[in-house]
Amino acid sequence: MNLQTQKPNTYYSIAKVLIGVSFALVIPYLIMFIGGVYYWKMGILLYDLITFLIFYQIALFGVSVSMHRYFSHKAFQTSRGFEIFLFIIGSSVLQYSPLYWASFHRKHHRFPDRPGDPHSPWSTDTDRKMTLRTWAHSHFLWGFSFDFETTARQYAPDWLAKPHLQVLHKYHYFIGLFFIVLAGLFEMFLMGTPEGFFRGLYFGGILRILTLHNFVFF
Ligand SMILES: [Zn+2]
Repeated sequence: MNLQTQKPNTYYSIAKVLIGVSFALVIPYLIMFIGGVYYWKMGILLYDLITFLIFYQIALFGVSVSMHRYFSHKAFQTSRGFEIFLFIIGSSVLQYSPLYWASFHRKHHRFPDRPGDPHSPWSTDTDRKMTLRTWAHSHFLWGFSFDFETTARQYAPDWLAKPHLQVLHKYHYFIGLFFIVLAGLFEMFLMGTPEGFFRGLYFGGILRILTLHNFVFF
């Protein structure tokens, strides 16, 4: 692909950004803050730390082994069954589906820190001057500037051709939400009381996801 023919990535739709920022940033961080104050006062338990660490490790595996090594770089070969398992673990992170993640990441490697790189401050600018706009673009706004379908068709046709992955791709948000509920059930089982369910939703769900997002995005 020719660099000159690359379309700039900064086509933000204001409505999309407002809705996206509310649902992906404002509401989750508000829940994290309120929950943090609440559980700080109630006291943080060893069960909370165990649930957080286990589900954090699962999500970390989802980013590094599933979405990065396997779906983006095809660093190893595996069976169809394990591929499905990797897709499910990758979806648990709630950073779009592994199919979209891989297509952005392949595009990033195609144009590293050059015009065309989806999440670089220099995605459209050739003069390397950091501004608030370029910083915000590289940190999180890039997620709202994409034509996901086109990028996936261009950069992940191998995965798009697999019907079983298309089905999982369609339901990736549900898989992500399922893992939050699973964390609740896990801590409820550990504690042996219904209170554990809500603690698990917080520590193994919302806190785990936002902590990992911040490590990945920075
Ligand atoms: Zn890579």
